[in-house]
Amino acid sequence: MNRKNATLFIVATPIGNLADITLRAVDVLKDVDLILAEDTRRASILLRHWDIRAPVRSFHQHNEAARLPSLLRRLGGGARMALISDAGTPLISDPGYRLVRRAREQGITVTPVPGPSAAIAALSASGQPAARFCFEGFLPATAEARRRRLNSLQDEPRTLVFYESSHRISATLEAMASVFGGQRPATVAREISKRFETFYGGTLAEILTAMAACDHHRKGEFVIILSGATAPRPESRRVEEIMALLSAEMPLKRASRIASQILGANRNECYEAGVKAKRKGRSR
Ligand code: SAM
Repeated sequence: MNRKNATLFIVATPIGNLADITLRAVDVLKDVDLILAEDTRRASILLRHWDIRAPVRSFHQHNEAARLPSLLRRLGGGARMALISDAGTPLISDPGYRLVRRAREQGITVTPVPGPSAAIAALSASGQPAARFCFEGFLPATAEARRRRLNSLQDEPRTLVFYESSHRISATLEAMASVFGGQRPATVAREISKRFETFYGGTLAEILTAMAACDHHRKGEFVIILSGATAPRPESRRVEEIMALLSAEMPLKRASRIASQILGANRNECYEAGVKAKRKGRSR
């Protein structure tokens, strides 16, 4: 085998509809020496459908570390491999990070074969702003850790994207409503590209009501797209409050230097906040 040919392809596969695969993905999967699949039985449905006969080995979070040395040896010897996950784009809330990293460190070509990902599919059809977004993947499983994570996202102005399973969809939406308020707009995308594809839109409170109407609405796979925070961020309010206090006692320049040290904030931002606070003070 020629080491120059050694390539690890990261191949996106359908998230439901088996036709959602690119022509290049099919060609690559037919051509490689080995396909690494998260679940070989699930992969076989797709591979059979597209008449792909390359050998398949399992590669998942529990055997990733153990398989790594032999896979890297084979790649080092010139093998061409494709990594696929159960659905969508590998590594996006799926295994493969260590393999990609180590392959790159060894100078092996790693190349993506782009295609579906549930996050992007949901976002693109959600009606929520999509120019800037923040992918959060799965929230922690325990209620306390989940709440802590959500609390840390309270002031995030970008659209937020979460993955969720049917077991936790209700608990997660309820936790979101309690942290962000029931009025925060959101879209829940269920079973994208499958028979029961449904998009629930509205406020978190409205979505919870719609999904509570019938058990079926909570079955399947979900992406939650949550609108970002629109209220002024508490940090900026804090900067303003501190600048109002300090600038009453000393010149603005000095006050902004001290405030920026206390808050770890940008000095110009503090200065601006001080000007604003002074203006407000005068107009009272
Ligand atoms: N790597 C995949 C991707 O690129 O989308 C995601 C894998 S992650 C383990 C699986 C999660 O993706 C599911 O729990 C669900 O949140 C989301 N998901 C996958 N397929 C979906 C679909 N057809 N409709 C809605 N969500 C889906």
